[in-house]
Amino acid sequence: MVPLDDFLARQRIGFHKAHATGLSADARVLHTDAGDVRNDGLLLATGARFLRKLPGIEHAIIPCDGIAAGEAIRDRLAALDGGTLCFGFGANPNEPVAMRGGPVFEFLFGIDTLLRRQRRRERFRLVFFSPSDRPGQRLGEKAVGMLLDEMRKRGIDTVLGEKPVRCEPDAVQLERTRLDSAMTVFMPGLTGQAWLDATALPRSPGGFVQGDAQCRVPGVACTFVAGDGGSFPVPTGCPSRRTRPICRPRWRRAICCAPCAASRWKKRSPPS
Ligand SMILES: Cc1cc2nc3c(=O)[nH]c(=O)nc-3n(C[C@H](O)[C@H](O)[C@H](O)COP(=O)(O)OP(=O)(O)OC[C@H]3O[C@@H](n4cnc5c(N)ncnc54)[C@H](O)[C@@H]3O)c2cc1C
Repeated sequence: MVPLDDFLARQRIGFHKAHATGLSADARVLHTDAGDVRNDGLLLATGARFLRKLPGIEHAIIPCDGIAAGEAIRDRLAALDGGTLCFGFGANPNEPVAMRGGPVFEFLFGIDTLLRRQRRRERFRLVFFSPSDRPGQRLGEKAVGMLLDEMRKRGIDTVLGEKPVRCEPDAVQLERTRLDSAMTVFMPGLTGQAWLDATALPRSPGGFVQGDAQCRVPGVACTFVAGDGGSFPVPTGCPSRRTRPICRPRWRRAICCAPCAASRWKKRSPPS
């Protein structure tokens, strides 16, 4: 827990502890489970939620599902003497860019490193699976080759181009391949939060709040969306297809993804 009382007092922010549950048609009254909140302007930043439609998803650990998920990975690894560990991520079929693959690569390479440090890597088979032949493309064209090279170097097997069909307690069934699995780490695709269904806000095909390049919600006055909860137009030349507003003033124009922001930052930095 991070205590925010001092920060909120310093910034003169009133804190209304509640869950948003709905919104009036003109967006000037936010309904919450602790009463209505009137507003002259509204910034929506309630993030995204995971799609849990894959049959047997309860047998997989969703690594970004909170602290308990991280602890479950730690405890399962500690309890295992060996076996096959499977890693993968899915997308939202209605908005294929609504995915979060980066942390899966972090867990994959992190667990490989941990097992090597513990001198027991040879007792485990690590497998990365993806419906895409080019996983990680959102990180840029070059990144895909680098990721797959690194997996080859570390002896991580890959099964590419096959959609997952279901997770089982000790296996992952892909379209054509069945993988034994002592632990499945799977990040499902993302969609908008359920409470948005009780609003008339414009939504993208994947269920996110529609935002324009300035984070405004079209057709709803003084209402903005930021972060994972929004769907934004893709800037020209962006290597990734999912945009994420970056809220630092010097990056005001950079309504864009991490790789774009990084390359802009590099261009602005003095040569070393
Ligand atoms: C392990 C991990 C590694 C990651 N690595 C990277 C990375 O390297 N680079 C990167 O760019 N991104 C990374 N991400 C993704 C990044 O964390 C998210 O993109 C970012 O946190 C999204 O911020 P957000 O404010 O939109 O949503 P969130 O951080 O999800 O915040 C949404 C907030 O809204 C609250 N909320 C939800 N519903 C309601 C409601 N009805 N009423 C009131 N409050 C509500 C939630 O409790 C939450 O506090 C990573 C994520 C994880 C988990």
